[in-house]
Amino acid sequence: MSDCVFCKIVKNEVSASIVYHDEQVTAFRDIHPVAPTHILIVPNKHIHSVSGLTTEDEALAGHLLTVAGRLASQEGIAQSGYRIITNTGAHGGQTVFHLHVHLIGGQPMRHPMG
Ligand code: 5GP
Ligand code: ZN
Repeated sequence: MSDCVFCKIVKNEVSASIVYHDEQVTAFRDIHPVAPTHILIVPNKHIHSVSGLTTEDEALAGHLLTVAGRLASQEGIAQSGYRIITNTGAHGGQTVFHLHVHLIGGQPMRHPMG
């Protein structure tokens, strides 16, 4: 997707504070952090949202989570806890339509179901 900002970050065409990269996923700090740790983990290939995942993406979807857990340990928030969020579609509050997992922690969270 030529006009997708997360595709551009994956390809190093837009700068970001990248904290992890491998052949499947890239992780970088959110430009507007809502907590001391706020990292986005994205697939390197463009998938618009969870709704765009297929059975062929199951290893990739799992990898997004295991990388999130590993980064939480690296950030020193595994013990205190953290939140993993994937907003999906308009009602889910998604604003960038390239699948991403938010890893948020470093402070207590409000209840998520409000
Ligand atoms: P969503 O609302 O789609 O769940 O989350 C999109 C997130 O991407 C937001 O938290 C927003 O701050 C972040 N974001 C949007 N554009 C950029 C960008 O160019 N660079 C980085 N690092 N984060 C971005
Ligand atoms: Zn994209």
